[in-house]
Amino acid sequence: MIDLVVRNVRIEGEPALVDLAVKDGAIVERGVSLNVVAAQEIAGDGRLLIPGFVESHLHLDIALMNDWQTPGRPEPYLSHYGLNQSVERRRRDFTPEDIERRASAALELASRHGVTALRAQCHVDREVGLKHVEALQRVKEKYAGRVTVQIVTFPQQGLINHPDNAPLFREAFRIGADVMGGASNLDVMGDGRIDWRAHIDAAFDLAMELDVDLDIHADLSIPQSVTFDELETVYIAQQTIERGYQGRVTVGHACTLGVATPKVAAEAIALIREANLNIISQPDLYRLGRDDTHNVRRGLTRVKELLAAGVNVTYASNNVRDALRPMGNFDLLEEGLILAYGAHMDTVEEFNTILRMSTVNAARALRLPHYGLQPGCTADFVILDAPTPSAAIVGQAEKAYVVKNGRIMATNQTISHLYQGTLAGKFVENG
Ligand SMILES: [Zn+2]
Repeated sequence: MIDLVVRNVRIEGEPALVDLAVKDGAIVERGVSLNVVAAQEIAGDGRLLIPGFVESHLHLDIALMNDWQTPGRPEPYLSHYGLNQSVERRRRDFTPEDIERRASAALELASRHGVTALRAQCHVDREVGLKHVEALQRVKEKYAGRVTVQIVTFPQQGLINHPDNAPLFREAFRIGADVMGGASNLDVMGDGRIDWRAHIDAAFDLAMELDVDLDIHADLSIPQSVTFDELETVYIAQQTIERGYQGRVTVGHACTLGVATPKVAAEAIALIREANLNIISQPDLYRLGRDDTHNVRRGLTRVKELLAAGVNVTYASNNVRDALRPMGNFDLLEEGLILAYGAHMDTVEEFNTILRMSTVNAARALRLPHYGLQPGCTADFVILDAPTPSAAIVGQAEKAYVVKNGRIMATNQTISHLYQGTLAGKFVENG
């Protein structure tokens, strides 16, 4: 007997509506009008079924640190450096229980919005020690059946600026961290200098020593101009190739690539492709360009050019309702719409691409095993209340069903029958 069958859903690439049969947490069969009896049945009614959303970059330990009732920045926007100081000031009040409570709420909200796997950036430094990693590790175990979590060791206060840093990172992996992080802009030496190449080298050294993947914040600024050799992402690509780490390295932000001239950008993108880097656009529309008095820059990476070159590009929430960004809902359909505006993606095919970016592309960046909608894959999927990706993104479709490991995690009231030609009697005639 089959555990769950989903009837009459649309799946990208299938010419007709299909059924999906699930047993023991895996997809076992997919086809038109499957002749199976199941313990549980979902009527798809022509809606779109996609593999689970993958949140590829979220600062889970500081998420939801702002007032829940009154989202919005409690103080004026500071410089990026100032915002990080603000995080560090406010995190001194965090208790392990507090981090667990907020991270748990974040995972429940993400799950409700269709996220089935999430890569969590997590502060590791001499001030907080392993407090954040320990808390997220407990949350990761508690929610293992709902959202698969990978913990990235995020060096909030640097990696090479003190000899005690590296041992602390090694210890973080002993207690459960999964991926080595990096952020050269936060690695300030005693004399105020930043040696970003040495920071990247050290992050690679540790990742390779521990045999873990690497996920680096890089090229976060938007100077007036940039040369090929000044791009951090270029250096990361060169190191990836030199060290044979292709496919295991992810770069978040890469905003400076948007500054480069077309010639420099084309050379950089060719190298990024050769290194098989994963690029995550956050998308940084609101963070940068704050001091511009006219022609305000937005700090977005070259999403379309990277995609066209065959680079694995995804997008992510990054910060949700914390000191760095007071907005966000752990909702990748919402972030996808923001990306569509920012990156000028508006054709039907580009909306298809956006949904692929936060599902299959993100899963590839996280190297999730058995991900997808083929028989044999883990049964992690979402049924959107829309027939197509563009309808889902433009209409911000409800996530009608969220399924993880073959179990229904969330059912959300369908709010839109617009696409089926009825308004379901929800509106009162205005006499
Ligand atoms: Zn980040």
